[in-house]
Amino acid sequence: MSFADLGLSPKLLEAIAAAGYETPTPIQKEAIPPALERRDVLGIAQTGTGKTASFTLPMIERLSKGRAKARMPRSLVLAPTRELAAQVAENFEKYGVNHKLTMALLIGGVSFGDQDAKLTRGVDVLIATPGRLLDHFQRGRLLLTGIEVMVIDEADRMLDMGFIPDIEKIFNLTPMTRQTLFFSATMPPEIQRITEQFLHQPVRVEVSKPASTADTITQNIVRVPTKLDKMKRAILRELLRQEDVKNGIIFCNRKSTVDVVAKSLQKHGFNARPIHGDLAQAFRTETLDKFRNDEVQFLVASDVAARGLDIPAVSHVFNYDVPIHSDDYVHRIGRTGRAGRKGAALMLVTPADDKHFDNILKTIGAEEIEALDFSKFFEENPITESGGRREGKSDKRRSPRGDRSERPSRERKSRKAPAEAAPDAQAESDAAAPANRKDETRATNRRRGGESRSSRRREEPVIGLGDHVPAFLMREVAR
Ligand code: AMP
Repeated sequence: MSFADLGLSPKLLEAIAAAGYETPTPIQKEAIPPALERRDVLGIAQTGTGKTASFTLPMIERLSKGRAKARMPRSLVLAPTRELAAQVAENFEKYGVNHKLTMALLIGGVSFGDQDAKLTRGVDVLIATPGRLLDHFQRGRLLLTGIEVMVIDEADRMLDMGFIPDIEKIFNLTPMTRQTLFFSATMPPEIQRITEQFLHQPVRVEVSKPASTADTITQNIVRVPTKLDKMKRAILRELLRQEDVKNGIIFCNRKSTVDVVAKSLQKHGFNARPIHGDLAQAFRTETLDKFRNDEVQFLVASDVAARGLDIPAVSHVFNYDVPIHSDDYVHRIGRTGRAGRKGAALMLVTPADDKHFDNILKTIGAEEIEALDFSKFFEENPITESGGRREGKSDKRRSPRGDRSERPSRERKSRKAPAEAAPDAQAESDAAAPANRKDETRATNRRRGGESRSSRRREEPVIGLGDHVPAFLMREVAR
């Protein structure tokens, strides 16, 4: 089957050919024809399946007739993160080259003024993260009553981030007559409920994962006898120096760890940059562009920042931390071995990670993941009593600056911080950190809903003597 068989117009077929695509992917084959007939579609598909084109192409077709009115967009795409939203916008630009559609991207980190000016002129396609969209709406700058087509992309991710109430609110602001194209990689009950409430007799299209993990990705772990960050970083460097490592994404559970690992790698001469939700949008965009163009070799990332990113050729994925949610493991390693290419996924597993590691094994249906033999490395780099490790031969040999370039005082600080600051809460806030700052705060607040004042106070550091001042200090000084 070719794209022409799907009922797309010559202008779109030209744009598809220019993009270099010859045959539609399974989700495109199944979703495009009913979407062109203006039916609702429920697509159960992950990133990497070609799902973005499966909603972008029929939308362009539909929007090619008609004109946008001021402040009343004709279509709306909601995405969970800025990066994903930006990627959808790129897809519209690529496939819409032969159409004169106007588009606005409402995401955090971009000035309200510019976005508002575009809305005033009128847009055919509005692509947004939920928080920023509602901000514009609440300021009275936007009406959603003209929406003809609405797309929800990565709905399960929206659920993870606590955006479902926002999504429901947005659905209720759009007309009942709209066409809805709804995409999710999984269908948890909450998502099922939303689809039942807001979709009208949808055509259900389900495609399997792009490639089963076992086929194209070699998975290995390194058993790390300690959870000490310094040791983990030394092992990471050893892994990055393997001959077949062309480029890679290094996943950490916390944003703070992303920063520490990226800085440490840079000090050791690696070409690495961090990416997570707290970094400025311009920096993140630049980092991604550089990574895509091979100007940056390693991306140190948090889950949310990397989710859904379209980076074609990654030779390796490194799990510096074992992910807390086992499905994040599948998403992470799915960044390599794409489109039939060979890929490798390596993960550091400490004794403290056993529970999460077992969950991952269950999720991927494996009894074990083979551990690499690091006994020689541990002999050369023993863990010292104080918890660190002695300067290893391997590092001295390969890195002119060795470990000494990492100042021990700073080292101790970064090691202590996560343990002191409620590691799970911190990891959670990172795992669910949406790219839009407002969205991020909303998601975090929602998760913290049940937290009591006293439990928050317990975490606050006591400065000086705190509330209690001993009586002898209150006495007048005898002269
Ligand atoms: P997506 O699942 O939408 O993130 O798309 C994953 C990747 O597949 C992107 O790099 C797309 O550009 C690419 N792609 C989408 N459709 C096709 C197609 N029909 N043939 C080849 N590549 C495609």
